[in-house]
Amino acid sequence: MKLKYLTFISINLAFIILSISLLYFSSNHSDVTNGSQISTSSQKNVSDKEKPDNLVINGTINDSFFSSALNAGLTSKQIFSFTEALHNSVNFIDGIEDGTPYSIVLDKDTSHIRSFFYTENNRLHTIQLANNGLYYNELGINLSSNKLILPTGNLFRISSHFSKKRKHPIVGIVQAHVGTDYATPIGTPVMSVSKGIVSRSEYHPLAGNFITIKHNNGITTRYLHLNDRYVNKGDHVYKGEIIGKTGNSGRTTGPHLHFEYIVNNIPQDFTKLHNNIEMPLNNKNQKKLLKCINLSKTLITKILKEA
Ligand SMILES: [Zn+2]
Repeated sequence: MKLKYLTFISINLAFIILSISLLYFSSNHSDVTNGSQISTSSQKNVSDKEKPDNLVINGTINDSFFSSALNAGLTSKQIFSFTEALHNSVNFIDGIEDGTPYSIVLDKDTSHIRSFFYTENNRLHTIQLANNGLYYNELGINLSSNKLILPTGNLFRISSHFSKKRKHPIVGIVQAHVGTDYATPIGTPVMSVSKGIVSRSEYHPLAGNFITIKHNNGITTRYLHLNDRYVNKGDHVYKGEIIGKTGNSGRTTGPHLHFEYIVNNIPQDFTKLHNNIEMPLNNKNQKKLLKCINLSKTLITKILKEA
């Protein structure tokens, strides 16, 4: 913690960047992203403007997100309003590794953190504030909500239900099927349904490539038959983080995701929770969200080139 007091002069170029911003966001709280737009006028030299339109900060996580953001010049109020809004979905205390590069775009009107990008293990993670006041990841998962999500985001056809007694389609014997099978095309992104820590990420002849995540309140989730695994044992994951892609690995009769939801070591029927699940943004709002994300990315790229 002492770092935040010792190194108030940031390692990044925040103060240069503060004076160069060009992006105009307007706030329209009735829709997800209506009203966000970038100024098309080029303002290479804005030093004669009274204040910058938007603020961009590029830095590296050092010690913690809190101290790094403080060092970069954000106020504790800005940081806490951001982390508090996301506390159900993201672990900011030790969820992001030291040395991780990040970029922040601030809203010009509210000074709230509008976009947060960081790159960990060569994967870019995105948190974007929409104009409805909620934060989303790039797949349109609402990170401000405390609700669970489906491991595939949207609902796919269930090819095999949770059952205490099921005749196994391959071995033919009656045994429990302690998960839900979602019939997904190969390569569908698989997300952690809640924040947690990866306890296993391995290959097994029957389960194929599988991932196990431990969450709060005695909850464990398992994701089987994946083609790709993007996380390793010990990794922190946030709700909606893409942990892998679906596939057909292990013993299967076709591509699907076998998903298990376990509470205090007892597998539960996850479909019973389907009614209370947070669904991703619809296509129309997802497009608007991506537009906002891309505007922030463009701004950051522009700032980095000019710095
Ligand atoms: Zn299954």
